Amino acid sequence: MPSSFEIAVFEGDGIGPEVTSPALRILEKLSQNSATYGFEFNTLPAGATLYASTGESLPETSLDGARKADAILLSAMGLPSIRKPDGTEISPQLDLRNELDLFAGVRPVRISPGQRTPLRLEGGQSVDFVLIRESTEGLFYSRGTGEVGPDEARETMVITRKTSEKLFRFAFELARQRKAAGQGEGRVTCVDKANVFRSFAFFREIFDGEAKGYPDLLADHAYVDATALWMVEKPWIFDVMVTENMFGDILSDLGAGLMGGLGLAPSADIGDDHAVFQPCHGSAPDIAGQGVANPFAMILSAAMMLDWLGLRHDQADMVRDGVLLRDTVYAVIAEGRQITRDLGGNSSTEEAAAAVLERLGGS
Ligand code: NAD
Repeated sequence: MPSSFEIAVFEGDGIGPEVTSPALRILEKLSQNSATYGFEFNTLPAGATLYASTGESLPETSLDGARKADAILLSAMGLPSIRKPDGTEISPQLDLRNELDLFAGVRPVRISPGQRTPLRLEGGQSVDFVLIRESTEGLFYSRGTGEVGPDEARETMVITRKTSEKLFRFAFELARQRKAAGQGEGRVTCVDKANVFRSFAFFREIFDGEAKGYPDLLADHAYVDATALWMVEKPWIFDVMVTENMFGDILSDLGAGLMGGLGLAPSADIGDDHAVFQPCHGSAPDIAGQGVANPFAMILSAAMMLDWLGLRHDQADMVRDGVLLRDTVYAVIAEGRQITRDLGGNSSTEEAAAAVLERLGGS
């Protein structure tokens, strides 16, 4: 009997449902081909459209459904036209991070030879690093509670020892896994601004303490401003980098830009007991409903879910399928015939997803 895994699915707003549906079909296909695992998808309501009609963006029942699932797939939520009375947007994806204590935001940046990128890579050179963004505190800690007076506004940054220790251990474990898989040299770079802010000196000191537990790995530091420069000038020097929430928010979009846009940027938000897998992009209202959204970021996020679930539950087939799915997407990109217009092609969402499915032996 194959093991069955329950996946909570948030289709979200805008292009969300358009990119979710092909990702689910692909996961279904992979599980049908496997004798060891299967999926049960549980679609849950949340998002801006729901908020506009009910006043709730993440109902308690949806949160409960996410809590009891083995993993959570989320497309994108929010619409700029739908706002709360204080002028900010709803953001259930951020609420989930806090509710489920998803402290590690994992943002892989991969550029294969032949892939469209604003970088000038020398013949055959590739880029493959992972940015880990702390996702529950930092400058996002005071989200929604910042103090705004007539002449002054303040937000508070919080860095705790407990979360930082867990975050750094996560980063070192990931670097160790990547090294074992021949994917990196086993190096973790702490990205901070410890030259100016005491909170970042504290962050760095905790990083150095955790690094001592990993004598088989390299540990170093970089200031965030220099990191932004080096990500453009020589991104191949990075293996795993770990940083505070706001810095990670900004650097991950820079990483997406290097990869040729948000349409190729997957992500995972991981905690001790739960994980959400979602593309880095938003609901892209400017192209919603046209069938032209790039589904690859969502599909690559589904591949990250296979990696995580497979390792967590000792499912070798699932881990293999995660690698297969990622390689298949990159093979479709390298071939360049069935890619969406953000990557320079003219295929629809469905055609690009079908190219992946066909290579996996389905239709
Ligand atoms: P966005 O990521 O939705 O769009 C930015 C640009 O990238 C747009 O031009 C869009 O067309 C393009 N784009 C994004 N995804 C694409 C894809 N898969 N294929 C092709 N092109 C793609 O960012 P935005 O416009 O700043 O935000 C739109 C809404 O999404 C806002 O309401 C915002 O709050 C929300 N948002 C949600 C998340 C999330 O759920 N994690 C993340 C970012 C933004």
